[in-house]
Amino acid sequence: MSLALYGIGVSKGIAIGNVYIISHEPLEISEYSLSEENLGEEVARFESALAVASEQLRHIRDSVIQNDRTVDIAGFIDAHLLMLEDGLLTQAPIDLIYEHQCNAEWALKMQCDNLVQRFEAIDDPYLNARKEDVKHVVTRIQRILRGSPDPSFDFADANLANTIILADDLSPADTLLMQHNGIIAFATEYGGVTSHTAILARSLGIPAIVGLRRARPYIQPNEIVIVDGTRGVILADPDQRTLSNYKRQQKEDQSYRLGLIKTKSVPTKTLNGTPISLQVNIEFPEDAAAVERVGGQGIGLYRTEFLFMNRREPPDEEEHLEAYKQVIQALKGKPVTIRTLDLGADKQVVDSRYHEGSVVTNPALGLRAVRLCLKEQQLFIPQLRAILRASALGKVRLMVPMVCELSEILQVKKILAEIQMELRQKSLDFDPNMPFGVMVEVPAMAICTDLILPYVDFLSIGTNDLIQYTLAIDRNDEAVNYLYNPSHPAVLRLIKMCIEAANKANKPISMCGEMASDTYYVRLLLGLGLRSFSVNPESYLEIKHIINDSNTNGLKYLTKKILETNSQDDIAELLEAMNA
Ligand code: PEP
Ligand code: MG
Repeated sequence: MSLALYGIGVSKGIAIGNVYIISHEPLEISEYSLSEENLGEEVARFESALAVASEQLRHIRDSVIQNDRTVDIAGFIDAHLLMLEDGLLTQAPIDLIYEHQCNAEWALKMQCDNLVQRFEAIDDPYLNARKEDVKHVVTRIQRILRGSPDPSFDFADANLANTIILADDLSPADTLLMQHNGIIAFATEYGGVTSHTAILARSLGIPAIVGLRRARPYIQPNEIVIVDGTRGVILADPDQRTLSNYKRQQKEDQSYRLGLIKTKSVPTKTLNGTPISLQVNIEFPEDAAAVERVGGQGIGLYRTEFLFMNRREPPDEEEHLEAYKQVIQALKGKPVTIRTLDLGADKQVVDSRYHEGSVVTNPALGLRAVRLCLKEQQLFIPQLRAILRASALGKVRLMVPMVCELSEILQVKKILAEIQMELRQKSLDFDPNMPFGVMVEVPAMAICTDLILPYVDFLSIGTNDLIQYTLAIDRNDEAVNYLYNPSHPAVLRLIKMCIEAANKANKPISMCGEMASDTYYVRLLLGLGLRSFSVNPESYLEIKHIINDSNTNGLKYLTKKILETNSQDDIAELLEAMNA
């Protein structure tokens, strides 16, 4: 029977395909007793599960190694393979089977609890974090033992081409692992519009829906579904008429996108001749190719935290430098804005030891981004050194996220000055005039832009966080998604304030938050005085098309009206008129 389930569309487009359902929920493990004569058989069952687990991991490892981006992930899997050879997971459960005359799943659970407890007692964050590895490996063996169809999902496995993923939730690290598997869309029960998983979906250009709430019980594994990322609806088992309608729409979308290619070669300029800077946001070095594909003017935001995900050790200076070199080379002289790492909050690494002991009750307000960098300088310094060295190779700009007060800027600058001295001593090249900028993501920063401007060369407005912090809504929590509103008067006032302050000080200001990539707000942002946008590559040509079809003079009146209005209905009406 056909069924439509509604969520929040976070990445536009239509995908039609078979669904693959994923659950991250923990397995329910029960205990049962065995008679003495069955214990040998139970041990054999356990040993064969170990062999299957190891075979599975080797298979995943081989498939990720073929993909050059994921060598670090291979290291991560290797560590799990090593555990499968360790007596603590191979012999100890067997001893427990004999001792307690119980099933293998239960023996494994006892041993896992035991190991986790021991790791927790260790005062070394690295060893402490190893408990997650133990849990992963144990869950894999338990699933094999249960013999039920594997509800887990190996993101690195390569057999998911043309499937649609339906999950309770996906972390950015999960999304990163599955991006090369030919997945055509995903839908999750949790998550928000500006969660990083949603941002990644947009940059991959695949339709996505979040916040579907209990969708999994209603959809059968492998069933044909339609994901309409524009309307935020997933249709299960669609009838023939719906299917043909959607196929037709899919074709229309494709020809609209092809038509946009024409705008690639023309300058980005409004109808009344105002030149606009339009750059691209990227997440991985490989994404730099998108700049050329869309004819972008440079990279306005390179989110480097993805270098840190799905691995055991943070990248060293050389690895950072290699990644930056790759981007700089692909950009052929165009500017590259490298944002220093923004880990924490929703951008967790799989290996959480980087910020063990941080505030977990409210991570978005906790040890995140520049706060984490200043505290854990062993993560930060190799990155800053690499960015400085990269600045000798092209037009590099350094940008710091989540700044909330001047002292943070001064601390980063002090570290940079020390690194510059060291580089000079070692005769390593760097650009002493590399532009230094910060993101305006915290309302405090937007309110005090004028006070901060003397200390920076440029600013970039990160609306994803600015909206989250201004409206006090967790950007990942679908329960408060209805409050996520880029056109809230408070948000618009803050944006206007910082654009005006930057213009007055003659300092460049851009916007790299998702609001800049949203076709609905482009004209309003032009009306607010924004002249520099950094957008996801998939939206680039559409945004450019709108800019080139706008007249900034004509936008003044409606922008003023929007700023004077408190009613969301009126704002929506005025925005409609603006976009008509
Ligand atoms: C933002 O907050 O708008 C932004 C661009 O940064 P991120 O989404 O990576 O937090
Ligand atoms: Mg941000």
